[in-house]
Formats: sequence, C-alpha cells, structure tokens
Amino acid sequence: MDNLKMAELLFGSIDKTPEDYEAMYPKRQLPEGARVTRFAPSPTGFLHFGSLFAAFIAAKTAGNDGVFYLRIEDTDKKREVENGVIGMVNGLKDFGIVPDEGALNETDESGDYGPYTQSRRNHIYHAYVKSLVERGLAYPCFMTEGEIAGVREAQEKDKELPGIYGKYAKYRDITVDEAKARIENGDEYVVRLKSPGKPDGRIAFKDEVKGKVEMPENILDIVLLKKDGTPTYHFAHAVDDHLMHTTHVTRGDEWLSSVPIHLQLFYVLGFKAPKYAHISPIMKEDAETGGKRKLSKRKDPEAAVSFYAEAGYPAGAVNEYLMTIANSNYEDWRRANKDESIDKFGFMLSKMSKAGALFDMIKLHDISKTYISTMNTEEVFDAVTAWSAEYDSELNSLIMRDTDYAKSIFSIERGNKKPRKDIGKWSEVKDYIAYFYDELFDGVLGWAENVADEDKKAILTAYLEKYDHTAPQEEWFPTVQVLAEELGFAKSPKDYKADPDAYKGHAGDVAGVIRVAVTGRLNTPDLYSIMQTLGNDKVRERINTAIEKI
Ligand code: GLU
Repeated sequence: MDNLKMAELLFGSIDKTPEDYEAMYPKRQLPEGARVTRFAPSPTGFLHFGSLFAAFIAAKTAGNDGVFYLRIEDTDKKREVENGVIGMVNGLKDFGIVPDEGALNETDESGDYGPYTQSRRNHIYHAYVKSLVERGLAYPCFMTEGEIAGVREAQEKDKELPGIYGKYAKYRDITVDEAKARIENGDEYVVRLKSPGKPDGRIAFKDEVKGKVEMPENILDIVLLKKDGTPTYHFAHAVDDHLMHTTHVTRGDEWLSSVPIHLQLFYVLGFKAPKYAHISPIMKEDAETGGKRKLSKRKDPEAAVSFYAEAGYPAGAVNEYLMTIANSNYEDWRRANKDESIDKFGFMLSKMSKAGALFDMIKLHDISKTYISTMNTEEVFDAVTAWSAEYDSELNSLIMRDTDYAKSIFSIERGNKKPRKDIGKWSEVKDYIAYFYDELFDGVLGWAENVADEDKKAILTAYLEKYDHTAPQEEWFPTVQVLAEELGFAKSPKDYKADPDAYKGHAGDVAGVIRVAVTGRLNTPDLYSIMQTLGNDKVRERINTAIEKI
C-alpha cells in the first residue's frame, strides 16, 4: 500500500503504465532470426573512428533483413553540442551508413518505435520507474553531495566497494510521510533502484564477442532518475532497447563492467535481455613506446573521421578496411570474391578480435589503391570532381576546364584485367595527373642513370623524326625497337643480357628516355596512351624542351 502511495507521491502526473507502452510498441514484424541493432551516440557532433566502427558493426549485425536504427542518447547535456545530431547523421552517411530508422536531424526522425531521442522519452521512463516504485523496487534518495562524498571517503578508507548499497543506502526504507515532508520542504532527490543483488552473488552471460563472462552480481542502488528527472544511461538504455525490440546491443567494451547492472535492470523490469556484443577498442602502435594503445582523439589525426574525407579515401575503401579489421577472414573472402558486394560477406560478431584490432594506415592505403583500381572512369571522375570541389580548387578547375580530357586521363589502364594501383586517395590525384597539365607539370624529375646524355639527345632527336601521332598502339614499341637498334641498343633485354658489351642498353632503356622526356617521370602508366591523350603538339613540345635542357 505504501509503495503505491509513494509512487503516487513521486509520479502523480504519470497516467500511462508500462502495459500501455508495451501495447504502443508491439513486437516487430520481421523474418525469423532477423536482428535489430542500434547505434546510440551522444550528440557530440564528433564522429570518432571508433564510433564509426561501432556503427558499422551494428549495421552489419542487422544485415539485410534486420533493422538498424539510430538513437540519440542526450541524457548528459554537458556533452552535447549544437547541431550534434546532424553532424553524426552526415558523418555516417559519408561512409554509406544509413540507418533504417531513427533520428534524421535535430528535430525529425523516421520509424514506428520513437521518439528516438532520449530527451523526448521522459514520460516513458517515468512510467517504468513509477511501476518499480509501486513494486517496492525503487525509492527516492535525498542524500546530499556532501553525504555521498562522506560515504565514498569512508569506503575508500576501509577498502570497501564504493557506491550506495546496504548500510550506505540511507533512504532505502524511507517512509511516504518522510518523503512527502522532504519534497514539500523542497529537498532534491534522485530515484534509486532497490537492488535485489546479493553481496556474494555472481552472474554469467555469453557475450557475442568476448565469449563467456562471469562477474559479481550488482548490489548497488544505482540512480535511475537524476535530480532533474532525466534518466541515467543505464536505465534509459534498458527501457529503450526493450521497447525498440533491440536483439543485439553492440557497443564499446568500456560498458562490459556495467553488464551486471544492466542485466539486473532487465530482470526487475521484467524484460527479456538483449544479446550483448562488446567491441574492443581500435588499437594503434605507439611510435614513442613501441607498445599498443587506444587510437586517441588527441594524438592521432586518423581518429577523426573527417580525416578520411579530407585525404580523399573513398567511402567504399574505408568500408573495406573496416570489414578487414572487423573480421580477419574478410581479406581471404575478398580475394576469392573480387567482384562481390561487401554485403555478401557473412560478417560474424564471434569472429571479432577480443584484444582489439590494430589500426594500420599502410593497409588502409593498400586496400584503397585496390578499391580505386576497380572503379571505372566515370566513377573516378565523379569522385575526384566532388573531392576537389571541396578540398582542392586548383585541381577542380583544371579538371572542369575540359572534362573529356580529364576522363581520358583517368581511363588510362583502367578497366583491363590487371588495373594499375597508382591512386590510394584523391589527394594523390594531382601528382598523378601532373604531367597532363602544364600548370602542374614540374619538368623532368630525374633521368635513369644508365643512358649517357649524348645518347638521350640522339634518342629523342631521332624519335621526334619518326613520331607519328596517328600510328596505332601495336606499332609503338616496334618503332622504339627499330630506333634502339639504329642507335646501338639491343632490341630486347634478352639480347642485351646475352652480350652486354655489344650494346649501350636495350629498347626498354630507350623507351624510358622518351617516357621521362614526355612525362618527367621514370614510372607512368602506358606511355602510348599518355601520348595519345596529351596530343601531337604537346608530345613534340615536351621532347623538344627536354632536348634543350639536357
Ligand atoms: N550513449 C552510449 C555512448 O555514448 C552508448 C552505449 C550503447 O551503445 O549502449 O557510449
């Protein structure tokens, strides 16, 4: 009877019951075994690489037939920034992660299980706390900050478990009359769980990533509602994950130690607990110590997801990389299934690293090179245009000046069986295409050392005479071979190796001299295609300039 009176005292204006909410948010109509997952950030606006990874894992866990939703956990107003939600939504979208339902921006949302922003769900939390009070499982606690600090001090001194429980839970058995008097007096209070845990109790559960975990049972009378009536993360997530029918809670493993509290909350609330998957943080090799540490927002530029957009790593490449660190068997799968969509891969939480995957920039770059090598000309052109519009206006205007010219550059050695892997990120494009634009061309960067200057001149002068811009591709190397023989070079490396003293070098060296004269570089994609794109006049101009400068 007293419990009911207490509930009325604290929540007199709450007229809905848990049953009402159960009816409002019925079981989802999903195929058997479909999973419901969520990404539940605080709206800080800043998407850390680790949170992107968590969102990616949640999305992949839901897979194609499940539901992945975005819930905004804004119960801690101190951590919030203006437009923090849209910042997170766009951050995810940049990497192709678009939730099936949930918050869309600061005000709008989609889906039938909302509101998806915790600050708009207070009435729901209150109904559930009210029912706990009615059942004698929650109570108002009027302890002051000073009293709590005193308890903490005493516990520290006696090396006891810190927190409010047992004899420290001063208001566990508060009467309705006392609570009423205090409230009338204007005393502030929180609502605490009356924890049913036993001091020597233990719990065991199976974590989807970590495997079997055993821990002491929770005995703390944790706060459910803060002084201002807003819920704690612990309580809010339990109510939300229940009503939104989350099947798998995937989150950072800093929450692992809270599982005893969470399972107890699900238990007292009469909810079926979701499956938990605690993701280990992404690690990084520390250059200073040589050891491993967590990827750090402060020390590592790659910890902010804006880094990837600025550098120009395509979203698809970052996704490939994320899957590589999520499941180490992904790389083998990808090698065997080069053209399949990443969504066909059978991602498994149980195959995630328990220790924490190591961030590897070189690997990301390699993966991105491979990824970009499989993009077609139009895709590369569109991506470079979009990237440069934001980050490199000089590159952008060069490309836009003659889009067909730019496309013909990007089409060189693209689409064939073994495409070249020259570009790892869009910020490398400018250097990659530099010799196609006089504005970027920086002249001859260095000649191969094995051809004497007078031979270079002779090669280039003779080549200019023979050069026919309309000749087909098949004729290009034979022409170089004829030239080579005329100037004392072997027709092939094989001939040269058989009798090195008889020759100055071989046709490959001759072609190399022409390559450097035209492009300034020792290594380029197919030279014939490059010259076709540059045009007759430009090829001749480059060779003439090179001759003059030797
Ligand atoms: N809001 C929590 C955080 O910011 C989310 C934890 C969870 O996914 O349950 O870390």
